[in-house]
Amino acid sequence: MNRATTTRNKVASAALADAEKYLLPTYKRQPLIFTHGRGPYVFDSNGKKYLDFLGGIAVNGLGHAHANIVKVIRRESARAIHLSNLFHNEFQGPLAKKLVEISGMDRVFFSNSGTEAIEGCLKLARLYARPADAPVTAPNPKDRILALENSFHGRTFGAVSITATEKYRLPFAPLVPGVEFVKFNDVADLESKFDKNVCAVVLETIQGEGGIYPVSEAFWNRARSLTSQHDALLITDEIQCGLGRTGRYFAYQKFSSRPDLVAIAKPLAAGLPLGAILASEAVASRVSPGVHGTTFGGGPMICAVALEFLKILEKTKILTNAAARGAEIRGGIQKLAGKYSFIKEVRGEGLMIGVELTVDGTPFVAEALKRGLLINCTHEFTLRLLPAFIISTKQVREFLGIFEEVLGHVSKSMPATETARQAAHTAAR
Ligand code: PLP
Repeated sequence: MNRATTTRNKVASAALADAEKYLLPTYKRQPLIFTHGRGPYVFDSNGKKYLDFLGGIAVNGLGHAHANIVKVIRRESARAIHLSNLFHNEFQGPLAKKLVEISGMDRVFFSNSGTEAIEGCLKLARLYARPADAPVTAPNPKDRILALENSFHGRTFGAVSITATEKYRLPFAPLVPGVEFVKFNDVADLESKFDKNVCAVVLETIQGEGGIYPVSEAFWNRARSLTSQHDALLITDEIQCGLGRTGRYFAYQKFSSRPDLVAIAKPLAAGLPLGAILASEAVASRVSPGVHGTTFGGGPMICAVALEFLKILEKTKILTNAAARGAEIRGGIQKLAGKYSFIKEVRGEGLMIGVELTVDGTPFVAEALKRGLLINCTHEFTLRLLPAFIISTKQVREFLGIFEEVLGHVSKSMPATETARQAAHTAAR
């Protein structure tokens, strides 16, 4: 081991020890330090290379260290990182314009994260439902919010209140009142729970943490028609599935109608923290100065970076690439499903892919890490793949190669019952 490596290892060990001692233990993390990335690869402190199919949990749409993004950060950080939302900056208006153009929505509010965008949407729904001329102290019976079972919308109070998974919500009760959950894609259940006091239906166009489940067209259409009929809002959370991941700018663009509010975040500023609410003019017309705000949201440097991100989506074939590479990945895994019976289903669109297993996904994630592949597991049984939009066919092949090795290796140490089932499945082919 040379001196540089020894020093790097010492620094990494010290950083791990500090993390262990001083951080709140909110995550079960691998004892690894990642130091940098290049395109769809990341490197740890030992110099080991990993193919990144997690993308910072759907954030790094352009991969790591994209030259144009680095250039904009360098340029703008030397000019103004933060000003104040009491003034205009050069980039916030143009970024809002671009988002309006690609989404079909009308107005934008910038936040710092996905969960904050969701909070803002919920506040806007309650505001919209209140008669414009009513005193602020007047009770507002139109306060019910319908969310979906299996949903995930973030970690702040409003967001956990509309997040179905109990472990995320129950420790923090009492939550925001007025929320009820509808069975996923169940139109009859939606109809039975909807009434004139509903102010919003909120859903993820494709559920992410829940295991990559797309909302059906029938459910979307009924949610749209009921909310329109009763002057309630349809809010879609595109924090994970939006901004190019499906091969379209927004996942909802496969439907023939638009929502009233859209929450976005993750890839928007290529890894810097930026979220946004996209609103219809009807909702925007109820907003006045002081009703909502943020210190950091929409600063000049971060908006310049987001503009560059959107320019890259527009000027290159990156959306087409996301759709095509996604199809290659799903096709490849479908083939592997013929060989490995514990692959139950492959779901998703573009580069938002869930591989549901009949067995616990944890050992697959651990084995992939050993073999230089980053993936994660959500809802215990679903392996989630969220690679950068820029991946090439060669990198898809590389992924499929490692993934097959991982499946083969883990299947050897499966319990006897599963191995027998696997053998029967292979023999039957
Ligand atoms: N909504 C969805 C669908 C998400 O996937 C996430 C994060 O994973 C959030 C909301 C919360 O976003 P953030 O972590 O930026 O607050």
